[in-house]
Amino acid sequence: MSNKKWDNIKLSTKAVWAGEEHTFFEGAAQVPIVNSVSYNHDDVDEWFEVATGKRTGHIYSRNTNPTVAVFEEKMRVLEGAEAATSFSTGMAAISGILFALLSPGKRVVSVKDTYGGTSVVFMEHLPRFNIDVTMCETQDQDAIEAEALKGCDLLYLETPTNPTMKVLDLKRLIAAGKKAGAVVVVDNTFATPINQNPLALGADLVVHSATKFIGGHSDALGGIVCGSKHLIDQLYGFREINGATLDANSAYLLLRGLKTLKLRINQQNSNALQLANHLYQHPKVEQVFYPGLETDPGHKTATEQMSGFSGMLSFSLKGGFDAVRNFLPQIRFAHRAAHLGGVETIVGPPRTTSHVELSEEGRRKLGIPETLIRCSVGIEDIEDIIADFNQALDSI
Ligand SMILES: *Cc1c(COP(=O)(O)O)cnc(C)c1O
Repeated sequence: MSNKKWDNIKLSTKAVWAGEEHTFFEGAAQVPIVNSVSYNHDDVDEWFEVATGKRTGHIYSRNTNPTVAVFEEKMRVLEGAEAATSFSTGMAAISGILFALLSPGKRVVSVKDTYGGTSVVFMEHLPRFNIDVTMCETQDQDAIEAEALKGCDLLYLETPTNPTMKVLDLKRLIAAGKKAGAVVVVDNTFATPINQNPLALGADLVVHSATKFIGGHSDALGGIVCGSKHLIDQLYGFREINGATLDANSAYLLLRGLKTLKLRINQQNSNALQLANHLYQHPKVEQVFYPGLETDPGHKTATEQMSGFSGMLSFSLKGGFDAVRNFLPQIRFAHRAAHLGGVETIVGPPRTTSHVELSEEGRRKLGIPETLIRCSVGIEDIEDIIADFNQALDSI
């Protein structure tokens, strides 16, 4: 697979056309959903060649499927990678990376603010296999760099982080990981390939929960990893056996969502920046976490490594948790749910969603205020979003 033919092509064109430059079954112009478990091969020699990877084709849909393959190709091109492989969910992709590449005695360096499910794999599952995981303070880039340089096999980064939008300096930390000889992995779910390109900054693997902005319509689960053919082959080899395969129907929905990725992300970047600026000066809001704000500690790094600040922000309310109790039901145009990245605005308190398992003390240690509300800003018109938030804030 080569990226040469995509060299001078921009992102929206890639999102629409990558993997879809030819016609499909019976001349179909759109990607068919291939709901077939297996594929016929009348010629036994040709069958053997496909089965041994000498010829392109499909054998069994747990391994490869034509609809899924188009999704993988589109993501590969969007991330500018040599290869890509997909998974049933983002967590299947993340645990696929960790379990395919690590073995007893290996060492992982990461941060405390990774996605909740990832933290559980770090704290509860990798140690069962005698894999050492060091989770550094997310804001302390010196400590992350120093831990990586002590020697590690895998450096796992995520930026911006959930839910307080901390920004890691990718260039600096990736360089430290490479120096240590580690495989450097970046969870790019919050940023998307529109806003941030970790492979161009030297990362080895980029992983997405495609369930979020990639699909963008909150109707399909999926995961994707992009990187070198050498690493992706190892992940694919593990996944085809482990069986956490992306379904063709989900792949179709994700593909359909991807075509409007840049339109959606541009609107969400713009909406989130305007909402963050508005909330920042609102008397009932205590603090706003958004790297697009000039006062945000991650602003400088974000400006260097991101082309947009993403549709994700969070803010804390003045007063106790009652303020959150009163605010949330008043919002008219937002889902109150544990999800993000859809075209609709989604709000939820980490206290009851992503960080429900932690104590108040545990949340404080991560710098998560009890009155924090995480907000995935949708593509609605910003005037309506701001008016809606205003009336809900007035009701507190
Ligand atoms: C949601 C999410 C995941 C997990 O993805 P699923 O598709 O829900 O398994 C991983 N990382 C980040 C940053 C996420 O937001």
